[in-house]
Amino acid sequence: MSYKVLDGKALSTTIKQEIKEQVDEIKAKNLRAPHLSAILVGNNPASEAYMGNKVKSCNIVGYTSDLIRRDETITQEELISLVHELNDNNSVDGFIVQLPLPDHIDADAVLLAIDPEKDVDGFHPYNFGCMAQGLECFLPATPHGILIMMERYGIETSGKNVVIIGRSNIVGTPLSILLSRKSKMGNATVTLAHSRTKNLSALTLQADILISALGKPFFVTADMVKEGAVVIDVGINRIDDLTRRSGSRLVGDIDFEKVAPKSSFITPVPGGVGPMTVVTLMLNTLKAYRKKMKLKD
Ligand code: NAD
Repeated sequence: MSYKVLDGKALSTTIKQEIKEQVDEIKAKNLRAPHLSAILVGNNPASEAYMGNKVKSCNIVGYTSDLIRRDETITQEELISLVHELNDNNSVDGFIVQLPLPDHIDADAVLLAIDPEKDVDGFHPYNFGCMAQGLECFLPATPHGILIMMERYGIETSGKNVVIIGRSNIVGTPLSILLSRKSKMGNATVTLAHSRTKNLSALTLQADILISALGKPFFVTADMVKEGAVVIDVGINRIDDLTRRSGSRLVGDIDFEKVAPKSSFITPVPGGVGPMTVVTLMLNTLKAYRKKMKLKD
């Protein structure tokens, strides 16, 4: 079967250009640019890379941004007081706290301290609750990015069987809610599979849309995929590769080479879901800015 690659990299470039045009219009009215702040604790290489992409994207769309670095010895109280400072800072429209945080810090307590109006990652329970009820909110970046990608590629979700592997609070669980909601990119029948799921293949073989978000390289093999399925790979895993100068490379959860010929649409890793996650962060920041400045969408 001939399949189409869902090119998140190209799509994110297009959407960033659309955002930039809106920001240029805002600046032409002599208003300040939207501002995104980010807190990075410690020096986890993956977090450094994600943060680099986020700062680069802010520059491309014309936002101002600042990266606040703290040593991994920071206490929970100090981090929460930094969050309160950003909550109170009128020139910050939105901010993110890059996860994971060091083990001695309770990430839930930190996320709970963020002003929901500035929670552009959409991780605060207030935004999560509003999302679940279909109310106005900041949608979580990765699930929202996946919905935008499917919408832009004309992939229908209504009435489809969707199987999601992985039930994290930032990907699998919110995605299962969004796809089952009565909405444009919803109305699907969703199965949320996880580490205790039995007979996973029997479920995945029923999936019109299969989304993998568990973080295990090559976990989804061709025999688990229905002919013609849409296959979305959220996983980002680093594996050894001695043919590369770095000695490693990034792969998803899906065995792309074998699964692609069975699929109708499939995301690559890298260059699929990852860039869409950054783009939705930019969209949420613009939304926070417009709300603060009382500008129409
Ligand atoms: P997580 O690591 O918090 O949890 C993994 C989930 O997988 C759990 O819910 C668990 O029940 C499930 N799981 C584990 N083993 C399983 C098995 N054998 N069968 C079925 N389910 C199983 O999840 P996360 O934070 O959503 O991250 C998942 C992956 O997605 C990681 O590789 C992460 O790096 C990646 N990720 C990518 C993006 C992106 O922008 N592309 C964003 C977030 C996370």
